[in-house]
Order: sequence, then C-alpha cells, then structure tokens
Amino acid sequence: MGGFPITYADRIRTLPPYLFAAIDEMKRKAIDRGMDIINLGIGDPDLPTPTPIIDRLKQAVDDPKHHQYPSYDGMLSFRTAVANWYQRRFGVQADPTSEIVTLIGSKEGIGHVPLAFINPGDVVLIPSPGYPVYPVATSFAGGTPYFMPLVKQHGFLPDLEAIPNDVAQNAKLMFLNSPNNPTSVVADKAFFQRVVNFAREHHIIVCHDAAYTEIYYDGKRPPSFLEADGAKEVGIEFHSLSKTFNMTGWRIGFAVGNRDVIGGLGKVKTNIDSGVFQAIQEAGITALESDDQLTDGLRAIYQERRDVLVPGLQGLGLTLDNPPAAFYVWIEVPKGFTSASFTAHLIEHAGIVTTPGNGFGEPGEGYIRMTVTTPKERLSEAVERIKKVGW
Ligand SMILES: *Cc1c(COP(=O)(O)O)cnc(C)c1O
Repeated sequence: MGGFPITYADRIRTLPPYLFAAIDEMKRKAIDRGMDIINLGIGDPDLPTPTPIIDRLKQAVDDPKHHQYPSYDGMLSFRTAVANWYQRRFGVQADPTSEIVTLIGSKEGIGHVPLAFINPGDVVLIPSPGYPVYPVATSFAGGTPYFMPLVKQHGFLPDLEAIPNDVAQNAKLMFLNSPNNPTSVVADKAFFQRVVNFAREHHIIVCHDAAYTEIYYDGKRPPSFLEADGAKEVGIEFHSLSKTFNMTGWRIGFAVGNRDVIGGLGKVKTNIDSGVFQAIQEAGITALESDDQLTDGLRAIYQERRDVLVPGLQGLGLTLDNPPAAFYVWIEVPKGFTSASFTAHLIEHAGIVTTPGNGFGEPGEGYIRMTVTTPKERLSEAVERIKKVGW
C-alpha cells in the first residue's frame, strides 16, 4: 500500500502559528515545578448555566419532535424570543421571519459571513487587537484584511477617518466589537452613528459582534449597534447566549439586522450546516425570557471581582483602565517588558497565566489581558503574588 504526502490547503497552511502554544508550554513547566497556577488567561465563564435553562433542556430533550433536523433559520419561536428580547433590551424592532437567524454560537456566524459577501480581493476592515476569527474568516473567503488599530490615543476605538480612501472604496465589510474583547472598551451610540454614515458612504456591510453587551458594570448598559439610525440598512449584529448565560458549551447564538445580510448568511449556512438542536433553542427561549432575573446576579459577581482585581493592580503601579463591561482587563506592561516577556514573567515567577496582547494583533503589543472568570479570592491572591515578585 503506497501512501502519499497529505498536504494542507494554502488557506490553513498559511495560518499564523498558534501563539498560545508557547504559553501552554510555560504553564506546563510551572505546574511541573509544583507551582499553583492562577489562570487569568481564559475567556470562558467559570459559573454553571442557570438551573431554569437546564431544566427546560431536560424537558425538551424528551420530546421526539425535537429529534429531527431543525429548520435552517432556527425555530420561529426562538427567533420570536430574540425579537422580543431586542425590543425590550434595546428598543430595536426586528422581524423574526426575515431579520433574525439562529447560529451555532456566534463564532459560527462570524466565521461564515465573509463567505456570503466577500470575493477575492475585497477588503474587510477589522479591529486590531481583536477576536482572531475576523481575519481568519476573511482570508478563508479570499478577502484582504485591513486592520484598524485600537490604540489608547483614540480611546481604543477604530479611527474611521484614518482609513485611507482607496481602502474604504475597496472595502466590502467591516467587523466591529463592542464591548470589546480584549480591551473591554464600549462604543457609544454616537460612534455607531458615525459607523453607519461611513458605511453608507462607502457601501460597507457592518457586522457588529455584540457578545458582551450583557456583561456590564455599574448599571450602565452598553448600546446595540442597531440603535443607531439607519443601522439596519447597513448591517447586522451578532449575539451569543454563551457569555450572557454561561452557555459557552451549548453552542447557540444569533444574528439580527439587515434582511439581505441575514439572507446571505442563511444561504451559506443552509449549504454547510443544519442548524441548532431544537431542545437547545427551547432552553435558549427560557434564557432570553428570564434575562435580567438570571443575569443580574452574574453581573454582580463579575463586578465584585473586577473591584478586587483592578484597584489591586492599579495599587501596584500598573497602568490600566477600569473596564465598563465584558470580563477583560487590559493592562499596559511595565517599562522594559514586551507582551511576551511580561506574560512569561508572570507565569514563571507568580504562577499567573495571562494572555499577551499581541496575540490579538500587532497593535496589542505592550499589553496583557487578564480575565475575571475566576473567584475573587484567587484574584486577590494574584494581586498579592504580583506584589511579592514585582517586575
Ligand atoms: C466569546 C466570543 C464570541 C462567541 O462566542 P460563541 O460562543 O461562539 O457565541 C464572539 N466574539 C467574541 C469577541 C467573543 O469573545
């Protein structure tokens, strides 16, 4: 039997190396040395899915009508629950039959949307640092990423005026993400309005990733992109039940907005996947309908943790802003360090795992990201350890 060399397609062969492999290696070494590791690197809620959601799944799973293929767009009852939630939460109306699609987690929709709209050579505007799926999905579709740097001088928001005119003219799609991963910065309605105007002028489809709108602090609810006037004429918004309801493992999210954009995404999906298990959509309805009852407590927990970690780190002399939302803390590395060397320093000497900012894109160099998806006792322990080892 003769074998032959299996070769990857260029689209995956040319992917950048997995940056976190180096961190995993350092983590393993620290564990081997008997170190107690505090993992502030992961963006996955540590708390369980609320009981009412689990109970609804248990009931639904017994019903044979859910055992068959779901509808491609998602159950109308789920999409109606989404529409009601949007109305309640943002004052935004959406037609469940044409302006909403159920997703297998929002990552799935983000990963697929360029396939619907990008031809080879089309430019996609992408915030950097940012969620790695935006550039990867762009290049899988043959598009060319143009990175909009998120820098301190510009409040970590994309500077639309700095986008060269020829780039804007060739751009077909723009990804945005507020509340932001990794910076936790929230865009206001005025910024979204500028995005809508820019998108109209240059005919750019806006895809706003809103995975963190429900994780906010001090009672200040972040707006939806769709609250801006005319937003539905230019784009869609991705949402996820993952972070809001501690459901990362369940794989359910949705997109809302422009019917032609939703339609294009739906067309790709129809040809690639077969939707979300209906019992999970039933559980999703319970989540969306219970909403604040389930999420108020969660926000209180994250806020308590943030209020341990952020002042603690600031007290040590580190430079960081108090995040208004999301569960990330974006920290400048001290003088003399890079993102990589400070990450290594914290693992090796303090047993604290963080994420180097440049892992989210070159403009993230000079920062590290910590998460508050760890109990507050561990966060104050982390602060104590950094105090002891210094830098
Ligand atoms: C977690 C996350 C998502 C998506 O999560 P799903 O579980 O796929 O819904 C999307 N965008 C950002 C920025 C995230 O951090």
